[in-house]
Amino acid sequence: MAPLALVTGASTGIGRACATRLVDLGFHVLAGVRNLDNAPERTEALRLDVTSEDDVAAAAERIGAELHVLVNNAGIAVSGPVEVVPVDHWRRQMEVNLVGQVAVTRALLPAVLRTRGYIVNMSSIGGRVANPLFGPYSASKFALEAMSDALRREVAPHGVRVVLVEPGGIATPIWDKGHADADQMLEGADPDAVRRYGTLIEQVRRSTERLAREGLPPEAVAEVVGTAVTTQHPRARYVVGRQARIQAVAARLLPDRGFDALVARYLRR
Ligand code: NDP
Repeated sequence: MAPLALVTGASTGIGRACATRLVDLGFHVLAGVRNLDNAPERTEALRLDVTSEDDVAAAAERIGAELHVLVNNAGIAVSGPVEVVPVDHWRRQMEVNLVGQVAVTRALLPAVLRTRGYIVNMSSIGGRVANPLFGPYSASKFALEAMSDALRREVAPHGVRVVLVEPGGIATPIWDKGHADADQMLEGADPDAVRRYGTLIEQVRRSTERLAREGLPPEAVAEVVGTAVTTQHPRARYVVGRQARIQAVAARLLPDRGFDALVARYLRR
């Protein structure tokens, strides 16, 4: 029987590409989706809202004793100035991108332990670097990275490999969804605060549009995930894309103030 893999958030973008790549590699893929009609071809659709305890329990039930690969990919991007983003949006960001991943991981870890399998957590270069207006998103990804580091060290002695994937800009629907949510949020925000950050919002929007346009296709991330889960000793972290690699190196080498200046210069382009 084909080894079993689950990809959360498999309806679009990176998750969809990962599900398809894993099918090509010979896995039986459960595609975690909120709407069963949106599962990619050749996969088995599994209703899975990662914030729903019932869905997570039902997924564990379906999977049973053995799971070879878990790709925690589901995610949303909440963006805006710290001052402007309402607290319930912060909660939602953490609920989907961190707590949801933890819930799925906890429910399925026994099945992954049994196969000495792989857990891939879809982080972001935003899990290493927090750019302006990406406070909520980066907070969730920094937290996911911390969870992954702890988990990797806990389960390595038991044969489970935990991998972080850190893409830079990838051309997926996440950016348009993020813009739509941000527009709605700004409409309800204090006008003084919106004015205070107006220029920055414009600059970040321009740079995000540029990144989305010039972003790699989601298949580039899927390729890396495929490599990680078919390698005996995968790396702890895979940075995906040139722009992400530059940021990772700059963040490691530059002092904080130097990196601040670099970000400001980039946004003025
Ligand atoms: P998409 O918006 O295309 O995909 C997000 C996926 O997550 C969708 O399948 C969506 O399902 C699903 N999702 C959202 N909320 C939930 C939830 N509560 N429960 C289950 N599934 C949910 O974006 P991407 O493909 O870009 O994003 C995938 C991952 O990659 C995210 O974790 C993101 O942070 C990360 N990433 C993306 C980058 C990029 O540049 N695009 C860069 C770095 C990391 P539905 O269709 O039902 O909404």
